[in-house]
Amino acid sequence: MLRDAVRALAEAKIAPYAAAVDEEARFPQEALDALVAGDLHAVHVPEEFGGAGADALATVIVIEEVARVCASSSLIPAVNKLGSLPVILSGSEALKKKYMTPLAKGDGMFSYCLSEPDAGSDAAGMKTRAVRDGDSYVLNGVKRWITNAGESEFYTVMAVTDPTKRSKGISAFVVEKSDEGVSFGAPEKKLGIKGSPTREVYLDNVRIPADRMIGEEGTGFATAMKTLDHTRITIAAQALGIAQGALDYAKGYVRERKQFGKPIADFQGVQFMLADMAMKIEAARQLTYAAAAKSERGDSDLTFQGAAAKCFASDVAMEVTTDAVQLLGGYGYTRDYPVERMMRDAKITQIYEGTNQVQRIVMARNLP
Ligand SMILES: Cc1cc2nc3c(=O)[nH]c(=O)nc-3n(C[C@H](O)[C@H](O)[C@H](O)COP(=O)(O)OP(=O)(O)OC[C@H]3O[C@@H](n4cnc5c(N)ncnc54)[C@H](O)[C@@H]3O)c2cc1C
Repeated sequence: MLRDAVRALAEAKIAPYAAAVDEEARFPQEALDALVAGDLHAVHVPEEFGGAGADALATVIVIEEVARVCASSSLIPAVNKLGSLPVILSGSEALKKKYMTPLAKGDGMFSYCLSEPDAGSDAAGMKTRAVRDGDSYVLNGVKRWITNAGESEFYTVMAVTDPTKRSKGISAFVVEKSDEGVSFGAPEKKLGIKGSPTREVYLDNVRIPADRMIGEEGTGFATAMKTLDHTRITIAAQALGIAQGALDYAKGYVRERKQFGKPIADFQGVQFMLADMAMKIEAARQLTYAAAAKSERGDSDLTFQGAAAKCFASDVAMEVTTDAVQLLGGYGYTRDYPVERMMRDAKITQIYEGTNQVQRIVMARNLP
């Protein structure tokens, strides 16, 4: 029922704008409005804070169905979870109440600020500093590649509180867009997910109350990594949705397109490609849903499964979307058809929330 409801909403209210959002590289406001109206913009927020209280699998299905029509728009529910999960996992009750309530209502989105210009895969090498000053912390630094920066009201920011301790000297904070000293860089000009703004976040002597720290001092990096264990599954879901959208489009196309006097769907060479695409998607779906169940239960092998699901599903998305372009021939290579957008959008799922090389490092360290 949830899938049917999200699919209907996505096809009616999000799909019609997907090409324009990509072409104009603009934020999908129509999608945000439709998702908020349907209470689907941050489904993971617990009911006690006014949220929909969706479990990890339901959240995955929402993201998958939105990504099937528009990958950029699927980053609204996905990044709302990424940005706010550190608060849900490690924040005080007061902090949860303060920030989960407006998020659930649709009064403000949440972004996640871990990466920096010189600290990507090696996130613990970050330089952003948070220095205690009485009842406040003062933050200085630059966060890079921040999804939905400028659009979000709330930002989980990881910053160094003790430079002698590397990852154990990092703490997490909630920073608000309206805090004095917060500003944003120009939107990055990207290959895909062009509707999702990616900008730098500048922190220039940003003074925030000390109770905006998420958990204890020095636990921010652990919280950031624990968050990724759960949210990599949402990127797997995004990849899955993109791949399914490309397969669905290609399936319809090959039945219509005629060459040598018959639909190209009648050629076994084409059928075998479609069969492989569907097989890979189904394998990615099973891995992703199993990982979502592990996320919900907090199973001990979640780290491996989350990394495996993200890595596998994103590789599948890249292969399937590339094959979809192939199946449309020259038409697939043009912006008159959606599959080239899907191919460009798929690429990012192999890169963010840890590149697929990093996922393999994570898996190797946590072999079942
Ligand atoms: C569109 C977009 C949105 C993003 N959104 C966010 C966000 O909202 N919040 C956030 O904090 N970050 C975000 N990121 C950042 C993203 O997570 C990083 O780009 C990613 O982790 C890789 O870091 P890097 O770009 O510095 O690449 P690098 O770390 O410089 O990696 C370059 C290459 O080297 C490889 N490599 C590095 N180390 C190793 C190793 N040990 N072994 C093998 N290979 C290695 C990588 O896999 C990669 O192929 C986003 C990025 C993009 C492009």
